Amino acid sequence: MKIHEYQAKEILKSYGVPVPKGRVAETPEEAGRIAKEIGTETFVVKAQIHAGGRGKGGGIRVVHSAREAQNAAKKILGMTLVTHQTGPAGRIVRKVLIEEGVEIEEELYLGVVVDRSKACPVIMASREGGVEIERVAGESPEKIVKEWISPVTGFRPFHPNKIGFGLGLNLGQVGKMRGILSGLYKSFIEKDCLLAEINPLVLTKGGDLIALDAKMNFDDNGLFRRKEIAALRDLNEEDPLEIEASKYNLNYIKLDGNVGCMVNGAGLAMATMDIIKVTGAAPANFLDVGGGATVEMVKNGFEILMSDKDVKAVLINIFGGILRCDTLAVGVTEAVSEVKVKVPVVVRLEGTNVEEGRRILRDSGLNFIIAQGMKEAAEKVVEALKA
Ligand code: GDP
Ligand code: MN
Repeated sequence: MKIHEYQAKEILKSYGVPVPKGRVAETPEEAGRIAKEIGTETFVVKAQIHAGGRGKGGGIRVVHSAREAQNAAKKILGMTLVTHQTGPAGRIVRKVLIEEGVEIEEELYLGVVVDRSKACPVIMASREGGVEIERVAGESPEKIVKEWISPVTGFRPFHPNKIGFGLGLNLGQVGKMRGILSGLYKSFIEKDCLLAEINPLVLTKGGDLIALDAKMNFDDNGLFRRKEIAALRDLNEEDPLEIEASKYNLNYIKLDGNVGCMVNGAGLAMATMDIIKVTGAAPANFLDVGGGATVEMVKNGFEILMSDKDVKAVLINIFGGILRCDTLAVGVTEAVSEVKVKVPVVVRLEGTNVEEGRRILRDSGLNFIIAQGMKEAAEKVVEALKA
């Protein structure tokens, strides 16, 4: 799960990380009032969306009075902000963060992520802040200092020294970074983060270190024990069909082709998408009905799949293990007769009760295209698309 910058900053602040004075607003008037309250000479008005690159996309404005802050908020609120992370459709801005302006001497990068291959968190830091860390990693990896933290012994006092001096900071700066690093790391662990990132961490003209931007992603599997984090979820930032699917415990992912895919299991989903691509089409989405799906879940899943306007043909690819083929067939037939499906539906079934499943599809009187094997299924769906 992702959260907004202003929410991540509130969390970091509670861990002792310095952040600019500021508050979030939903109207230009509110933005103006907040700027007056902050009372500094410059302000920054920042679009709050779950994506980075807002600066370049026009979602961040530096202004010099409360009135200008109000005007900037008026321009940003309601705009569709397109950045390299939003995709071409962009995101509608519903909230802005109003902050005191900070005079920047240097922009640094500081982040914690899980290193899966080493099975522990890794702290990454760089003096090349403000730009994407992936780019720094690609172009000049030597400019990133990394420190792996053992989950057994945890964060130790020598870590900030190694990182700070590794970046070439002076003694005073390393001292200031100490609290920031330990706060960032502690929040990462205590809130079950997959990523906690400050980009940029700014060295101000006055010699202070302050978190100018903040990003936190959380492990969904930990949300049941982090109610305060789950409460920060913003459904406006998520795909409506993905939200609908999560209600039924189904995994639905929107993609940009035109073949709707219903599968069981993530591995089969990947293989299905690959074979569709190889055969010359592209998936519009995939819906993973999982192992223990009921008729009701299959039906709901199929309806979600069909409400995606991009779907011009459907490929159902199921290997019946715990999910039996007859259960799947009943769910799909019920859904197809209720939703009046107009696009071709190709079905490939294998596994538990497959004969019964195929019989149900055949006897349904509906127009299913039954395929043997994945290759044939993909070919039939491409053929159906052309027709
Ligand atoms: P992102 O583009 O979505 O990652 O948004 P950031 O919060 O990282 O802001 C992008 C850039 O805007 C920063 O790297 C800064 O250069 C600039 N910026 C943000 N806040 C301030 C500020 O208070 N003062 C100044 N001068 N620039 C700022
Ligand atoms: Mn940033």
